[in-house]
Amino acid sequence: MKYADLHIHTYYSDSTFSPEEVVAYADKTGLSAIAICDHDSFDGIEPCQKLAAPLGIEVIPGIELTVEKEDAEIHILGYCINWKDDPLNRKIKALRDARINRMHKIISKLKEEGIEISADDVFKFSGRGTVGRLHIAQAMLKTGKVRSFKEVFEKYIGFMKPCYVSSAKFTPEEAMEAILGVGGVPVLAHPKTMGKDDYISDLIKCGLRGIEVYHTDHRAADEKHYKKIAEDHGLLITGGSDCHGMGKGRVLIGTVRVPYEIVERLKEESAKIQDDPSTRPTIQ
Ligand code: AMP
Ligand code: ZN
Ligand code: FE
Ligand code: FE
Repeated sequence: MKYADLHIHTYYSDSTFSPEEVVAYADKTGLSAIAICDHDSFDGIEPCQKLAAPLGIEVIPGIELTVEKEDAEIHILGYCINWKDDPLNRKIKALRDARINRMHKIISKLKEEGIEISADDVFKFSGRGTVGRLHIAQAMLKTGKVRSFKEVFEKYIGFMKPCYVSSAKFTPEEAMEAILGVGGVPVLAHPKTMGKDDYISDLIKCGLRGIEVYHTDHRAADEKHYKKIAEDHGLLITGGSDCHGMGKGRVLIGTVRVPYEIVERLKEESAKIQDDPSTRPTIQ
């Protein structure tokens, strides 16, 4: 049986893992396919593809975009995406740049709360990658003033917490259009984190094609719940570990996996999206 882990980050966003490490772990855990889904970046895709090909491991090009809707932060994955598209690359470069501003704003808010970190402290963790809250969290832990990621997000930088600053520059409609416009298949990431099941039908109206039913943060009851929602709406059922290397303290690659057949479904859906004129982008 062939398996795929469809949610993996590299050090081009907020994982500590290089493409070499990602592919070595994928090989070690016996995966046939992995999807690279960095936040606002495609930089990890090609290096992973080059390293994985000789090992017979397939790399599905993906992305993870953040959007907000009223009182929820929503992560949208885009699979089988044409990651070489120039207009899309310009858009996500703008998202990455905006994240630097956002980091400075978060740093100021943290200072008001008595936690002093500098931009350089954060850049030490982000390296070449898209700057994100996981890097800020790592810099905060280093001060010794906070003890865990849980505390960092629940007390300071989690959604709507005192030091939270939005990174969402796309509305759900725009994110979906950006993904569909380049043949990508939009899938709702870790729906439990969003926590607003009633938003799913609106997301479907914007073009959502799947739900990440299997995820590290989902227990068996969550899997059952989201599988039913996916089935009721005729959505694809995907899954992945959301591995951030050692970024979350534990290597997760391969701990959540789905049958390879899901990859085939995603490819079929991508082909349909590319054939459908209504999914072509209207804004460049
Ligand atoms: P960003 O893209 O900068 O908004 O950061 C998003 C990343 O922060 C996610 O991919 C997670 O890795 C991490 N994150 C967000 N919320 C939490 C949380 N409550 N607990 C742990 N990590 C979180
Ligand atoms: Zn992340
Ligand atoms: Fe996410
Ligand atoms: Fe992720």
